[in-house]
Amino acid sequence: MSTPNHRIRLLMELRASGITDTEVLAAIERVPREAFTPPQFRDQAYENMALPIGHGQTLSQPTVVALMTQALGANKRVKVLEIGTGSGYQTAILAKLFRRVYTIERHKPLLAEAEARFRELKLHNITTKLGDGWEGWPEQAPFDRIIVTAAPPTIPETLVAQLSPDGIMVLPVGGEKRTQRLVKLTMTPQGYVTADIAPVRFVPMVEGLPSDPAV
Ligand code: SAH
Repeated sequence: MSTPNHRIRLLMELRASGITDTEVLAAIERVPREAFTPPQFRDQAYENMALPIGHGQTLSQPTVVALMTQALGANKRVKVLEIGTGSGYQTAILAKLFRRVYTIERHKPLLAEAEARFRELKLHNITTKLGDGWEGWPEQAPFDRIIVTAAPPTIPETLVAQLSPDGIMVLPVGGEKRTQRLVKLTMTPQGYVTADIAPVRFVPMVEGLPSDPAV
C-alpha cells in the first residue's frame, strides 16, 4: 500500500541507515515506487527490500538506491549515465537530481515498460537506449557521473574512459554475489581512486543483447 505512513516509515529507515543527503531523501519521497513495482508486489512497494520485475531481474532495495545516489553526489548542472534501467525506479530518482539522465538496458520489454512509466510521470529529462552497457554511450560521452546497477566482475575500463576528468562512477563490483562490493570511483589527474562503500548483491552485468529480441 502507498499510504503516507508507509512512505514516512521508509524515509525514517533510510535516515537510520545513514542516508543524510536531504535532496536524495526528498527525491525518494517524491517518486512513487509503486509505479515501478509489478501489480502483484505493489503492497510491498514501500518495504525496504528488492522486488522481482521479471526476466530474472530485480528492482533494487530502497537503501541501496539511496546509498548509490548519495555517493554520486546530486548536481542539477551535470548529466549522468546509468547502466541497467530495469524498472526505471533508480532512473526516476536520478531525473529529479541531475540535468539529464542517459540510461541503457539490454532487455527490450523492461525498457519499454520503464519508458511508459517515465511518460506517465512526466519525466522528460531521460534519454533511453536499448543496448549493451559494456559499450557505454560514446556519442554522449564524457559523463560527469556514471551509475551501474548490475555487477561486472571487474571495473569496466570502457566506462572509465567515458568519465569526465573529475567524474565519479558508483558501481557494484564482483562476479560472486557473496563478495560483491559497492565501489565509488573518482577520477583524478593521476588516474582514478576507488573507495569501498558497502557489501551488496546485484544481478550480474551481462555481455551483449539477449539472442531473442522479444526478451
Ligand atoms: N536500477 C534497476 C535495477 C535493475 S537490475 C531497478 O532498480 O529497477 C539490473 C538491470 O541491469 C537489469 O534490468 C538487467 O537487464 C540490466 N543489465 C544487465 N547487464 C546489462 C548490460 N550489459 N547492459 C545493459 N543493461 C544490463
